[in-house]
Amino acid sequence: MSASSEHAIVYGGSMVGLVTAGVLSRHFARVTLVERDVYGDALQPRKGVPQALLNHALLTRGMRVFQEIFPALEQRLVEAGGPRFDMGADQGWFAHGGWRPRVDCGLRAFSVSRLLLESVVRERAPGHPPRAGPRRPRGDGLADTPGPRAGDGGAVEGPRGR
Ligand SMILES: Cc1cc2nc3c(=O)[nH]c(=O)nc-3n(C[C@H](O)[C@H](O)[C@H](O)COP(=O)(O)OP(=O)(O)OC[C@H]3O[C@@H](n4cnc5c(N)ncnc54)[C@H](O)[C@@H]3O)c2cc1C
Repeated sequence: MSASSEHAIVYGGSMVGLVTAGVLSRHFARVTLVERDVYGDALQPRKGVPQALLNHALLTRGMRVFQEIFPALEQRLVEAGGPRFDMGADQGWFAHGGWRPRVDCGLRAFSVSRLLLESVVRERAPGHPPRAGPRRPRGDGLADTPGPRAGDGGAVEGPRGR
């Protein structure tokens, strides 16, 4: 393993951060996920994800991708009560001024709160349960190199924490 593939740092421990950490854990010896919020109870909303209580649809392809990274995720969502539905038969499609006929198309999707989905993914993420650092981990984002800003040809140097 080369020196550059020893440690990856991901900022933001929500859906994209968790999935990214899941993929990177196959390639890096160590992955650190820095989240600004303190994770509370799995089903408690937190400030960084204001849409947490809203319903989200996880479509068929998305579930396949998640399953590749986090095996048995689908089964866990079913156990947690996430309703699975057929995208052709169980939901109405309004198009070209009218409701389309309902047909069982075999494409299954999930309808879950964003909170439930994230909590189930988090259970399966590498390094769960999360470990707080000596101080509450708090990310400032990516630090630009001094001088040129991103967009002016400036390089992004790396993460900065406090
Ligand atoms: C009303 C609504 C309905 C939606 N419906 C769907 C749907 O049906 N299906 C679907 O697939 N998508 C849906 N989406 C989109 C989906 O919610 C987002 O695409 C998804 O949450 C993006 O995830 P993310 O991890 O990129 O960012 P976010 O979920 O926004 O998370 C960002 C994370 O980064 C953390 N953070 C921020 N700044 C810092 C920092 N400086 N240091 C450390 N951590 C930091 C935050 O605390 C948070 O945990 C919907 C969105 C909304 C608003």
